Amino acid sequence: MSESAAEIGFDRILRFTLPDRDARGRVVRLGPVLDEILSAHDYPLAIRHLLAEALALAALLGSLLKEGAGQLTLQAQTEAGAVRLLACDYRGGELRGYVQHDDDQVAALGPNPPLFALFGRGFLAVTFDVASGRRYQGIVPLEGGSLAEACEVYFAQSEQVPTLIRVGVRSGGEGCVAGGLLVQHLAEGEEGRERLHVRMDHPHWEHVAALAGSARHEELVDPTLGLESIVWRLFHEEREVRVESGHAISRGCRCSIEHYRELIARFPEEERADMRNNDGVIVIDCAFCSKAFEIAGL
Ligand SMILES: [Zn+2]
Repeated sequence: MSESAAEIGFDRILRFTLPDRDARGRVVRLGPVLDEILSAHDYPLAIRHLLAEALALAALLGSLLKEGAGQLTLQAQTEAGAVRLLACDYRGGELRGYVQHDDDQVAALGPNPPLFALFGRGFLAVTFDVASGRRYQGIVPLEGGSLAEACEVYFAQSEQVPTLIRVGVRSGGEGCVAGGLLVQHLAEGEEGRERLHVRMDHPHWEHVAALAGSARHEELVDPTLGLESIVWRLFHEEREVRVESGHAISRGCRCSIEHYRELIARFPEEERADMRNNDGVIVIDCAFCSKAFEIAGL
């Protein structure tokens, strides 16, 4: 199988289905978009890796939304952990994210701390805002070894869909790379009827999970291995595998001076007076972009 540069390229998602196995999946690989998002912050390595993993997960989960509509938000927080808050979201192929952490606490943990060390007793909220305006949210404890494991628990508990997720992150001289794989069993196909139980032991799912589970982190972040090749390696013995290109991924934020002017204008005068600094200017920070917006004359 020969692959063009575009097929191998970074910052894209591949969607696939295994119709005979009632399964669907996504593969993603993020490269330049991660560097762009991370460049807005000065994070230590452990936090860069954590956010890179979260962004790959946001792309995987967000791409389950119907194309071009809705938003997926991941928010992980804790009361006393080295990481206080991690937030990232996906909307129509656009990703953004940031982390609030304590530098000294993170430094004491070393370069590759386990999830529990970063968050202590933490929780992950997974929120799907779908195009119709409805919101689906599930909150799971951050108890596993990784954010990916916490997302698996979310699907099992909140959506009752058996789901396998793998994410690998690598950073070196050429920048940060995150690769991810998500595979789900859909008892009645992609637009399935009501699901009766979580059937982790369904023979089709056991088969698909065994194949998908053989994906290695090195493969997911290997820039010479195209996304199609990953799907091919895992599922080439299946009778039918349908692949379809998903969104290209880019960095995107909704912050703008116009956006904040509109927002501030809705506050009553006495509250706006409290927000003004000595120069009569209201300064608003976008945590995603580490950028301050100065709003005068309001
Ligand atoms: Zn912003």
